[in-house]
Amino acid sequence: MSRSTARTHPAGLVGFPTPLPRFAIPDLVLPQAVPDDPREWVPQAPNVDFRPLMLNVTQGYFVNILRVRKTGVLSRHRHDGPVHAYVLKGRWYYLEHDWTATEGAYAHEVPGEVHTLYVPEDVSEMVTLFHVTGAYTYLDEQGRPIGHEDVFTKAEAAARHYEAVGLGADHVRRFIR
Ligand code: FE
Repeated sequence: MSRSTARTHPAGLVGFPTPLPRFAIPDLVLPQAVPDDPREWVPQAPNVDFRPLMLNVTQGYFVNILRVRKTGVLSRHRHDGPVHAYVLKGRWYYLEHDWTATEGAYAHEVPGEVHTLYVPEDVSEMVTLFHVTGAYTYLDEQGRPIGHEDVFTKAEAAARHYEAVGLGADHVRRFIR
Protein backbone atom coordinates (compact mmCIF):
# COMPACT_ATOMS: atom_id res chain seq x y z
CA MET A 1 0.00 0.00 0.00
CA SER A 2 1.17 3.47 -0.84
CA ARG A 3 1.23 6.01 1.92
CA SER A 4 -1.59 8.50 2.06
CA THR A 5 -1.78 11.91 3.60
CA ALA A 6 -4.80 13.49 5.15
CA ARG A 7 -6.53 16.13 3.06
CA THR A 8 -9.46 18.27 4.05
CA HIS A 9 -12.28 18.03 1.53
CA PRO A 10 -13.96 21.33 0.57
CA ALA A 11 -16.96 20.04 2.53
CA GLY A 12 -14.83 20.11 5.68
CA LEU A 13 -14.24 16.42 6.34
CA VAL A 14 -10.90 14.67 6.04
CA GLY A 15 -10.11 12.17 3.27
CA PHE A 16 -6.96 10.16 2.63
CA PRO A 17 -5.99 10.40 -1.06
CA THR A 18 -3.79 7.44 -1.91
CA PRO A 19 -1.77 7.20 -5.13
CA LEU A 20 -3.34 4.82 -7.65
CA PRO A 21 -1.56 1.54 -8.36
CA ARG A 22 0.89 2.08 -11.22
CA PHE A 23 -1.28 0.49 -13.91
CA ALA A 24 -4.64 1.75 -12.72
CA ILE A 25 -6.50 4.32 -14.79
CA PRO A 26 -8.33 7.37 -13.46
CA ASP A 27 -12.02 7.46 -12.62
CA LEU A 28 -14.47 8.23 -15.39
CA VAL A 29 -16.74 11.01 -14.19
CA LEU A 30 -19.37 12.77 -16.29
CA PRO A 31 -20.81 15.72 -14.39
CA GLN A 32 -23.91 15.58 -16.60
CA ALA A 33 -24.96 12.00 -17.24
CA VAL A 34 -28.01 13.47 -18.95
CA PRO A 35 -26.33 16.27 -20.89
CA ASP A 36 -27.65 19.73 -21.73
CA ASP A 37 -25.60 19.87 -24.94
CA PRO A 38 -27.76 18.22 -27.62
CA ARG A 39 -24.63 17.22 -29.57
CA GLU A 40 -23.83 14.65 -26.88
CA TRP A 41 -26.84 12.57 -27.96
CA VAL A 42 -26.02 10.09 -30.70
CA PRO A 43 -28.85 9.43 -33.16
CA GLN A 44 -29.81 5.79 -33.42
CA ALA A 45 -33.05 6.08 -35.42
CA PRO A 46 -35.47 8.96 -36.01
CA ASN A 47 -36.37 10.33 -32.54
CA VAL A 48 -34.24 7.68 -30.84
CA ASP A 49 -30.89 8.77 -29.41
CA PHE A 50 -28.36 7.41 -26.97
CA ARG A 51 -25.87 9.03 -24.66
CA PRO A 52 -22.81 6.87 -23.94
CA LEU A 53 -21.60 6.81 -20.34
CA MET A 54 -19.11 3.96 -20.61
CA LEU A 55 -17.94 1.97 -23.62
CA ASN A 56 -15.97 -0.91 -22.19
CA VAL A 57 -14.02 -2.57 -24.98
CA THR A 58 -11.95 -4.81 -22.69
CA GLN A 59 -14.88 -6.38 -20.86
CA GLY A 60 -17.36 -6.17 -23.72
CA TYR A 61 -20.13 -4.05 -22.25
CA PHE A 62 -21.55 -0.58 -22.51
CA VAL A 63 -23.58 1.74 -20.32
CA ASN A 64 -25.76 4.30 -22.03
CA ILE A 65 -28.87 6.36 -21.64
CA LEU A 66 -31.51 5.73 -24.26
CA ARG A 67 -33.89 8.58 -25.06
CA VAL A 68 -36.96 7.85 -27.14
CA ARG A 69 -39.26 10.59 -28.43
CA LYS A 70 -41.64 8.44 -30.41
CA THR A 71 -44.14 5.77 -29.57
CA GLY A 72 -44.84 2.28 -30.79
CA VAL A 73 -42.51 -0.63 -31.49
CA LEU A 74 -38.81 0.16 -31.26
CA SER A 75 -37.14 -3.13 -31.98
CA ARG A 76 -37.32 -6.85 -31.49
CA HIS A 77 -34.03 -8.28 -30.31
CA ARG A 78 -32.28 -11.14 -28.59
CA HIS A 79 -29.72 -10.63 -25.82
CA ASP A 80 -26.73 -12.88 -25.42
CA GLY A 81 -25.60 -11.14 -22.26
CA PRO A 82 -27.36 -9.60 -19.27
CA VAL A 83 -28.92 -6.14 -19.25
CA HIS A 84 -29.60 -3.85 -16.33
CA ALA A 85 -32.17 -1.13 -16.93
CA TYR A 86 -33.14 1.84 -14.77
CA VAL A 87 -36.00 4.04 -15.96
CA LEU A 88 -35.29 7.75 -15.52
CA LYS A 89 -38.37 9.07 -17.28
CA GLY A 90 -41.48 7.81 -19.00
CA ARG A 91 -42.69 4.24 -19.37
CA TRP A 92 -42.19 1.25 -21.64
CA TYR A 93 -42.78 -2.46 -21.82
CA TYR A 94 -41.99 -5.56 -23.81
CA LEU A 95 -44.74 -7.07 -25.93
CA GLU A 96 -43.73 -10.49 -24.59
CA HIS A 97 -44.21 -9.60 -20.91
CA ASP A 98 -46.97 -8.30 -18.66
CA TRP A 99 -44.85 -5.97 -16.60
CA THR A 100 -44.31 -2.28 -17.38
CA ALA A 101 -41.08 -0.41 -16.67
CA THR A 102 -42.19 2.87 -15.11
CA GLU A 103 -40.17 5.85 -13.94
CA GLY A 104 -37.93 4.73 -11.09
CA ALA A 105 -38.12 1.04 -12.02
CA TYR A 106 -35.17 -1.31 -12.33
CA ALA A 107 -35.20 -4.38 -14.57
CA HIS A 108 -32.73 -7.18 -15.23
CA GLU A 109 -32.95 -8.82 -18.66
CA VAL A 110 -31.38 -12.24 -18.90
CA PRO A 111 -29.14 -13.76 -21.58
CA GLY A 112 -31.22 -15.65 -24.14
CA GLU A 113 -34.17 -13.30 -23.75
CA VAL A 114 -36.00 -12.17 -26.90
CA HIS A 115 -38.31 -9.19 -26.61
CA THR A 116 -39.92 -6.30 -28.46
CA LEU A 117 -39.55 -2.88 -26.92
CA TYR A 118 -42.72 -0.82 -26.98
CA VAL A 119 -43.35 2.78 -25.88
CA PRO A 120 -47.04 3.53 -25.21
CA GLU A 121 -48.85 6.29 -27.15
CA ASP A 122 -49.23 8.63 -24.17
CA VAL A 123 -45.48 8.74 -23.42
CA SER A 124 -43.88 11.76 -25.11
CA GLU A 125 -40.38 10.91 -23.93
CA MET A 126 -38.83 7.91 -22.28
CA VAL A 127 -35.31 7.97 -20.86
CA THR A 128 -33.69 4.80 -19.54
CA LEU A 129 -30.20 3.90 -18.44
CA PHE A 130 -29.10 0.54 -19.85
CA HIS A 131 -26.04 -1.48 -18.87
CA VAL A 132 -25.62 -4.01 -21.68
CA THR A 133 -23.11 -6.86 -21.64
CA GLY A 134 -22.18 -8.61 -24.88
CA ALA A 135 -24.29 -8.12 -27.96
CA TYR A 136 -27.93 -8.13 -28.88
CA THR A 137 -29.25 -9.17 -32.25
CA TYR A 138 -32.08 -7.39 -34.05
CA LEU A 139 -34.68 -9.85 -35.34
CA ASP A 140 -37.31 -9.52 -38.04
CA GLU A 141 -40.92 -10.71 -37.71
CA GLN A 142 -39.85 -14.26 -38.48
CA GLY A 143 -37.12 -14.16 -35.88
CA ARG A 144 -34.32 -13.93 -38.42
CA PRO A 145 -31.25 -11.87 -37.50
CA ILE A 146 -31.10 -8.52 -39.30
CA GLY A 147 -28.37 -6.71 -37.39
CA HIS A 148 -26.61 -6.46 -34.10
CA GLU A 149 -25.40 -3.98 -31.50
CA ASP A 150 -22.43 -4.19 -29.13
CA VAL A 151 -19.86 -1.89 -27.55
CA PHE A 152 -18.09 -1.56 -30.90
CA THR A 153 -21.13 -0.57 -32.94
CA LYS A 154 -21.98 1.95 -30.22
CA ALA A 155 -18.46 3.41 -30.19
CA GLU A 156 -18.41 3.60 -34.00
CA ALA A 157 -21.78 5.36 -34.19
CA ALA A 158 -20.74 7.79 -31.47
CA ALA A 159 -17.39 8.57 -33.15
CA ARG A 160 -19.09 9.26 -36.49
CA HIS A 161 -21.72 11.45 -34.87
CA TYR A 162 -19.25 13.49 -32.80
CA GLU A 163 -17.16 14.04 -35.89
CA ALA A 164 -20.23 15.22 -37.82
CA VAL A 165 -21.37 17.68 -35.14
CA GLY A 166 -17.93 19.20 -34.67
CA LEU A 167 -16.94 17.63 -31.34
CA GLY A 168 -14.40 15.47 -33.18
CA ALA A 169 -14.26 11.68 -33.45
CA ASP A 170 -11.88 11.56 -30.47
CA HIS A 171 -14.66 12.85 -28.21
CA VAL A 172 -15.75 9.23 -27.92
CA ARG A 173 -12.47 8.27 -26.24
CA ARG A 174 -13.58 9.71 -22.89
CA PHE A 175 -16.14 6.90 -22.64
CA ILE A 176 -13.83 4.07 -23.65
CA ARG A 177 -12.32 1.79 -21.04
FE1 FE B 1 -33.63 -5.61 -24.54
